[in-house]
Amino acid sequence: MHDFYSDTQTRPSRAMREACLDAPVGDEQGGHDPTTRALEERAAALLGKEDAVFLPSGTMANQIALMVHCRPGDQVICERQAHLIFAEGGGPAANAGVILHPVEPVHGIFTPEQVAEAINPPSRYAPRSRLLSIEQTANLAGGAVWPVATLDAVCEVAHAHGLATHMDGARLLNAAVASGLPARDHAAGFDSVWLDLSKGLGCPVGAVLAGSREFIHEAWQHKQRLGGAMRQSGILAAMGLYALEHNIDRLAEDHALAREIGQRLSQMPAVAGLSPVESNIVILDLAEAAGPAPKVAERLAERDVRVSVMGKRIRVVTHMDVGRQDAEALYGAFDALV
Ligand SMILES: *Cc1c(COP(=O)(O)O)cnc(C)c1O
Repeated sequence: MHDFYSDTQTRPSRAMREACLDAPVGDEQGGHDPTTRALEERAAALLGKEDAVFLPSGTMANQIALMVHCRPGDQVICERQAHLIFAEGGGPAANAGVILHPVEPVHGIFTPEQVAEAINPPSRYAPRSRLLSIEQTANLAGGAVWPVATLDAVCEVAHAHGLATHMDGARLLNAAVASGLPARDHAAGFDSVWLDLSKGLGCPVGAVLAGSREFIHEAWQHKQRLGGAMRQSGILAAMGLYALEHNIDRLAEDHALAREIGQRLSQMPAVAGLSPVESNIVILDLAEAAGPAPKVAERLAERDVRVSVMGKRIRVVTHMDVGRQDAEALYGAFDALV
């Protein structure tokens, strides 16, 4: 199978698996797992924050951040297609009791003016505007990379109005590699930020949420409450440390392949257009002649090529388990559509 479904489809490499064998472990709930602690410290340094906490998933990182920053009834400003809105099982409402205010972006990015407009002035009628949340990269906008200057500018508006700021950094390291600027520069304006280990970095499990010491102290209470506190999690954290050591720079290869895929596919009769390719995600508009997206995905699957369907569009994601041969199979399968 040539699997372009998502960068979540990577399987841990042999070297990554071997990294767990000798990892010292203990009970992380008591703070006694040295490997987990090493991962947290490394991630905090990478993100330029005081402290960090290891979590089972990025979804839990988002949920915990909402619960620490907000109280029930508060308003959270985020992009219309944010993961918070469409893919967390209604968690923002169920767990944090917040109301989400969707902002319409251009290719995943919105402006400081839009943030200012979305903020409610203090009033007994409107929900209290409490948090600005942005995705770096913007997943459903085709992995669009927020420029650091824009990140700084939206955070400045939020802070000026007393809001906290949160970065969903599921693919922050893709943004760092694509922009050539370190992750901590992207995260500088944010009170909380996390990165996913189980996407392009190639780990089977895990995310790391970072912020001030006080923020992480509170985050721990929610981690425990949600059942996210583990025991000898150093086995997983060792793979995370391996990924931070070995799998960041190579994201550039995923980006180069995604760019090539965008260029090649955009010349095919089955494809009507595509979102700008800025990292490892390619989102395609189909030509009428190609047929509906679910049917296209089926026909590609007959040739062992797996992609994902997003409404009327097709998403192709590059990652460490797809390469040249897989791209050739993708081109062949697209060519055969029309
Ligand atoms: C994948 C993803 C998440 C959730 O991360 P999980 O580790 O799958 O729970 C959150 N936000 C974005 C933008 C994502 O792509």
